[in-house]
Amino acid sequence: MLANGKQAKAIWNAAREGHWAMGAFNIMDMITAEAVISAAEELDVPVCLQMADGYNPEAPEGMNRMTEAQQHNFDTFVINRAKDATVPVVLHLDHCPTYEGCIRALRRGMPSVMLDASQQPFDDNAALVKKVVEAAHPCGCIVEGEIGHVGGHPNSHGVIYTEVEDAVRYEEATGCDLTAISIGTVHGYYATEPVLNYDRIAEIRAVAKNPLVMHGSSGLREDQFKDAIKAGISKVNFATYIQIAGGAAQLELAKKLIEEDRRPMMMMFNNAGLNAARDYLKMHMTIFGTQKVTF
Ligand SMILES: [Zn+2]
Repeated sequence: MLANGKQAKAIWNAAREGHWAMGAFNIMDMITAEAVISAAEELDVPVCLQMADGYNPEAPEGMNRMTEAQQHNFDTFVINRAKDATVPVVLHLDHCPTYEGCIRALRRGMPSVMLDASQQPFDDNAALVKKVVEAAHPCGCIVEGEIGHVGGHPNSHGVIYTEVEDAVRYEEATGCDLTAISIGTVHGYYATEPVLNYDRIAEIRAVAKNPLVMHGSSGLREDQFKDAIKAGISKVNFATYIQIAGGAAQLELAKKLIEEDRRPMMMMFNNAGLNAARDYLKMHMTIFGTQKVTF
């Protein structure tokens, strides 16, 4: 089922109370979307699919940039697949830098959006997120904001740890529903071992009301996930290593086909990527302790 904003908030609130987390996995194509939803169905747990503002007229041309028609077709697949799912599926707009992009996503049918102004000063960040909240809440949709800054974006300046008092002030100033905090993770591929500040998560969890979000999560060890969730993380954002798991399986297949002098067929690579990504996702949903939710 396609979860609405109220149901999405209820899942993350239940996660906050029960000290488990719902994974929020980035999808770039139909195969990744199918891997995420079918993994959740096999485990009978709710899941969040995250998308970018793919059709963004202001965004530079890039590998994920879509035409308006491509975005519409992709949305149609994802929304229908989510509606048919046997588990609640939350569609979420990830890391949108603009108010206009968030409005586009709400119109596209997403019940949950993130406005990321985490590189801006507190007041500017809060004012922009508040503006999105004022547009989203009357439609029954929810909003994620970020305070502190999780590094790893092409234009970011590294990690800025979230201060406890800022997290509290931020949710009060914005009225947002989910708060992304910076506690030592970075986006993308880990070249060195990240050092996570579990005490900071617990300190923020003790005084803030919102479910807390950890970005830059893929590539962490099992104990790091478990300790972060135990300390108070309720939404785990996960992207890069799903692609690496699927890509590694495809590379293995390519080597095997070359060794056996067999013809490569695209379908074989799609299935190899899908199956490996699904197994990898199931392993992580289990680590996150995601619980069954019914409506
Ligand atoms: Zn992120």
